[in-house]
Amino acid sequence: MPVALIAHGGAGRWRPGSDADALEGLRAAVTAGRSVLVRGGSALDAVCATVVLLEDNPVFNAGTGAVLNLDGACELDACVMESAQARVGAVSGLQRVRNPILVARKVMEETDHALLTGEGALRFARAMGFGDHDPVTPDRQADWRDKRAKLLGDGGGHTLRMREFLRSHPEYAGGTVGAAAVDANGLLAAATSTGGVTLKLAGRVGDSPIPGAGNYACAHLAASATGTGEFVLRSLATRAMAERVERGMTLVAAMEEVLSALGRDYDADVGLIAVDALGAPVARHRTPDMPHAWFAGAGEPLARMRA
Ligand code: ASP
Repeated sequence: MPVALIAHGGAGRWRPGSDADALEGLRAAVTAGRSVLVRGGSALDAVCATVVLLEDNPVFNAGTGAVLNLDGACELDACVMESAQARVGAVSGLQRVRNPILVARKVMEETDHALLTGEGALRFARAMGFGDHDPVTPDRQADWRDKRAKLLGDGGGHTLRMREFLRSHPEYAGGTVGAAAVDANGLLAAATSTGGVTLKLAGRVGDSPIPGAGNYACAHLAASATGTGEFVLRSLATRAMAERVERGMTLVAAMEEVLSALGRDYDADVGLIAVDALGAPVARHRTPDMPHAWFAGAGEPLARMRA
C-alpha cells in the first residue's frame, strides 16, 4: 500500500515575515512523519511525530507558542484518531503541558474514555508523567496585550462576540496544526492540536478535540480541519467529507463540496486537509493562507502557503 502524509499550520492570514519559518517547520515535521512511515511505522506514530514537532515550534498556535485566551492563559485542545475501530483520544482546555497530542494519545490508549477536559485532563497528564511546562511565549504574550488593548479600547463590548473583531483583524487567526496519514498496512490516522482562537473566553472548546468536527479518521480518510472552530462544529466537516467518500465521491470532490457548503451557509473562514486510503493527500481552504506540507509514495516532502 502506498504511504502518504499531509500536515497544515492553520487557516487564516499568516503573520507577515514568518512564511519561510512556517514552511520550513512544516517540511521538517512532515519529514519526521515520513521517516516513520517509510520504515514501516504506523500512521498513528507518524501523525504524532509530525504534530509533536509542530507543537514544539513556537511559530504555530499549538503547544509552545499557542495563543492566549481572554484571561491570558493557554488552554490547549488536541485529538488523535485512527481508523482501526475508530480509536480516539482527546483533551480540551489543558494547561501547562508541552505536548497535548501525546496526552490525547494516552487518553486513547490508557483509559476507557475518549475526551478529558480542564483540571481532570491536567491531573491525568501528570499521572501519566507529563511534567509542568509553560507554553506561553513572550511573543504571544506581547501579541495578547496588544490585541486585548484594542478589543477593550473598542469599549470592550466585543468580548462576548469576537467574530467581527477577528474578521477585521484576520492577522490574529490561524496557526493550529494537524496531520493526516495512511500507512503501509492501509491504516489511517489524524492528529490535530491548537490553542484555539485568540482571546477566546476561558472554557471555550473548539472543533479540534471533537471527533468528526476538527479531527477524524476512518477506513475512507483521515482529516484535520482548521479555522473558526464553531463553523466546523456546526458542520461536522471532517465527518461530512468521510460520508461523501464512503458514498463513492473522490476526496477532492468531497472536500470541495463540504467547503463550498461552509462558504454558502456561514461564509466560514476554514481549511481542510485529508488523505484517502489510496494515499492521495488533498488540501483546500477559504482563507488567504493555509501553510501545508505533504509527501506521497516515494516522493520528497513539498510545502506551500496556499493550495
Ligand atoms: N479550529 C481552531 C479552533 O477553533 C482554530 C484554528 O484552526 O485556527 O479552536
